[in-house]
Amino acid sequence: MNIHEYQAKELLRRFGVAVPDGKVAYTAEEAVQAANDLGGPIWVVKSQIHAGGRGAGRFANDPDGKGGVRVSKSIEEVRENAKAMLGQTLVTKQTGADGKEVKRLYVEDGCDIKRELYLSMLIDRSTSRVTIMASSEGGMEIEEVAEESPEKICKVSIDPASGISGFHCRRIAFFLGLEGPQIKSCTKFLMSMYKAFLELDVSLVEINPLVVTGTGEVIALDAKMNFDDNALFRHSDVADMRDVDEEDPSEIEASKHELNYIKLDGQIGCMVNGAGLAMATMDIIKLKGGSPANFLDVGGGATKERVTAAFKIILSDENVEGILVNIFGGIMRCDVIAEGVVAASREVNLDVPLVVRLEGTNVEQGKKIMKESGLPIIPADNLADAAEKVVAAVKEAK
Ligand code: ADP
Ligand code: MG
Repeated sequence: MNIHEYQAKELLRRFGVAVPDGKVAYTAEEAVQAANDLGGPIWVVKSQIHAGGRGAGRFANDPDGKGGVRVSKSIEEVRENAKAMLGQTLVTKQTGADGKEVKRLYVEDGCDIKRELYLSMLIDRSTSRVTIMASSEGGMEIEEVAEESPEKICKVSIDPASGISGFHCRRIAFFLGLEGPQIKSCTKFLMSMYKAFLELDVSLVEINPLVVTGTGEVIALDAKMNFDDNALFRHSDVADMRDVDEEDPSEIEASKHELNYIKLDGQIGCMVNGAGLAMATMDIIKLKGGSPANFLDVGGGATKERVTAAFKIILSDENVEGILVNIFGGIMRCDVIAEGVVAASREVNLDVPLVVRLEGTNVEQGKKIMKESGLPIIPADNLADAAEKVVAAVKEAK
């Protein structure tokens, strides 16, 4: 799960990580109120969307205007900037061409920036440890830095048994060229951030930029945080920060039915049980010249209701021109699945070709149910056959 910058800063602040003061605002009036409360003299009004690159991004209604992060030198300017951003669509390098509508703003104290640096912590799966990455190239995308000048990135891996120590922090601080009291400030920052990382079951925290202020403090000017969804039940306060407006509506609907669904941009909808089989199905669709419209794992205990929900979600995607159901009935019986598929096809008035490959427990009964349904379901014997048939049926339907 992702959260907004202002929420990430609120969490980090609780753990003693240095961040500027700021307040969230949903209207221009609230932004003005926030600015008055903060006191100024300089404020930064920041669009809150689940994507980076806001500063360099542009609004769809004003492509030659200013970006999604605006320094404001008076209350009047705060009001104007808030009005100009709220309700408008911000397009950044990370949002894709459609952009994202700005529904919340963060009004933050303007910071006296001496240097912009980069800092992140993430779980490195190859070492099973938290890795800290730091770079002097603040504000740049780290992928770009890694590509063009990898020597500008310092990586420190933390042993979970002993945790973070002063020497880890000093190594990073020296690498970043920090001096005197800045080193102490950086150490405190890293220690607090590591604590937040562990206690909140964070999977990624990225501070870009981390800045050194005019007075030598090291503080977070931006914050991106991702969480391990499997641990969210332990953090109801974090779970409450979820902003469904920022998520794909069909993915939200899928999560209600405990379906693992990820929308893709192909034309063949897939309904599969098991993540491995789902991946294999997507691969073979590609191999046969098609392109999957989604990843969908209906799980082991898919009922008729779940199969129906899955069908509806797949069909709500207007790119879908054909559906491939590929289910292995191990725990789940093929006859139950067949009933689900038949009932769902009737309920949703299926109007695209449907290829079904069933295998496993009660497969013969399952096939019989589909055949006797009178629906134009195309049966398939194996994975390759199923993929070929759905790709051909989609071509033919055109
Ligand atoms: P994004 O990464 O989405 O563009 P940031 O929060 O990193 O958004 O802001 C972009 C830039 O705006 C920063 O690199 C920084 O130069 C400036 N900025 C952001 N917040 C402040 C602030 N509170 N005070 C001064 N400058 C800021
Ligand atoms: Mg940033």
